[in-house]
Amino acid sequence: MDINKLLKQQQAFFNSNSTKNIAFRIEQLKKIESLLRSNEALLYEAIYEDFGKSEFETYVTELALVYHELANFIKNIGKWSKKQSVSTGFVNWPGKSYVIPEPLGNVLVIGAWNYPYQLSLLPAITALAAGNTVVLKPSELPKKTSEVMVNLINNNFPSDYFCVVEGGVEETTALLKHCFDKIFFTGSTAVGKIIYKAAAENLTPVTLELGGKSPTFVMADADIKMTAKRMVWAKFLNAGQTCVAPDYVLVEKAIETELLEAIKAEITKHYNSDSIEDNYLQIINTANYERLVKLLNTDNIYFGGQTNSENRFISPSILHQVTFEDEVMQDEIFGPILPVIAFTNLDDAIKKVKERPKPLSCYIYSKNKKTINKILHEVSFGGGAVNDSLMHLSNSHLPFGGVGLSGIGAYHGKTGFDTFTHQKSILQKPFWLEPNLKYAPYSDFKLKIIKWLMG
Ligand code: NAD
Repeated sequence: MDINKLLKQQQAFFNSNSTKNIAFRIEQLKKIESLLRSNEALLYEAIYEDFGKSEFETYVTELALVYHELANFIKNIGKWSKKQSVSTGFVNWPGKSYVIPEPLGNVLVIGAWNYPYQLSLLPAITALAAGNTVVLKPSELPKKTSEVMVNLINNNFPSDYFCVVEGGVEETTALLKHCFDKIFFTGSTAVGKIIYKAAAENLTPVTLELGGKSPTFVMADADIKMTAKRMVWAKFLNAGQTCVAPDYVLVEKAIETELLEAIKAEITKHYNSDSIEDNYLQIINTANYERLVKLLNTDNIYFGGQTNSENRFISPSILHQVTFEDEVMQDEIFGPILPVIAFTNLDDAIKKVKERPKPLSCYIYSKNKKTINKILHEVSFGGGAVNDSLMHLSNSHLPFGGVGLSGIGAYHGKTGFDTFTHQKSILQKPFWLEPNLKYAPYSDFKLKIIKWLMG
């Protein structure tokens, strides 16, 4: 595809002002919704072919969020796009001041593979809702889902408004050479740095949704059964290939064995049927499968550890007696392996977490308000949950994004709309009054009045 031509066409379409019309935007969002709903069977088929993901998990973790946000935007973009009056102050009296939310222009969205629909479509529809044009580059790893998005979008939308461009490193590198008005990237921290550098060439603003090692604190006063239930669901969903999955557990020594047993019981309950290999999600590719299998090459397996290279299957696995120095604690795991580290002193555990890059998420299981507040106060992370895991991202009132090496910027709901919007600030004055105070020749008297007026 000729990217230069595509971008020129998108710039021309944006400059025609069509996307600034709210009715136009709502019509496009409704069209996307109807396309997705009428082609759901195709979407399910493609993702099953890519990594064996079931219709249930696809609906719950990919499409439900997209539908929810579409409805949210259709309902609210009129309100969010209105100019907002702000106070003016005496110095500019009798003027008035207001802020006009305006679309940024031409947006490039680069998606990750682990939730191929959600992580591509959610930022894309948010950018469209805010009145931008979009070039979407999904991950090249899940081939079928990428293909289905190309067909759905490119056959139903004009490319000067919304277009999917397929490809890997080479194609993304080519896209990054062009001057977009915004780049929204989801992926690893290492590639995030490449995107940030490329964007800097054109001073293009970026949102970087990255990864990291998200800790889970489990205190002795927690409801252990419920903790295990919620944690096991969040960790082993999508075979652990979730950016906000609990990466590792920090548990108070006193309840270590009880928690390990509770996690084991939960895994056994949900993932231990004879057909588990057929029903459990595959690891996305051989490289990731082999990386994960190496992490299981340890004496610390408490439960699980079964692997099958033929279908890239790794059973939900728990590691115990893990230390911060172990290999599994060096990088984001991004697979169904849960290391558990016991601690006796919360301050030491917090210190260890803070020695590492700021995580995307953090989860705290405790009934003690003081402990919860202490961790929330002392540990910096993107977002998280108390007595739950992962579910914070299902609330579109909560901005979703990282901090430090786990990301820059946020989206979901109104925050997402603002991410793709420029707040244009205007002071507007009538012609009938203009005191001479600020004009030369200056005098002590004028200065005195100015100081009195301005403080
Ligand atoms: P990735 O960084 O390898 O790839 C992401 C995108 O970047 C893909 O579209 C890919 O084609 C492109 N890309 C890869 N290498 C590139 C290069 N050298 N130059 C230009 N573009 C390049 O990430 P991934 O493997 O798809 O996803 C896994 C990572 O993403 C994990 O670290 C995970 O935590 C993170 N993630 C974050 C979020 C979030 O919302 N914060 C969501 C999902 C995944």
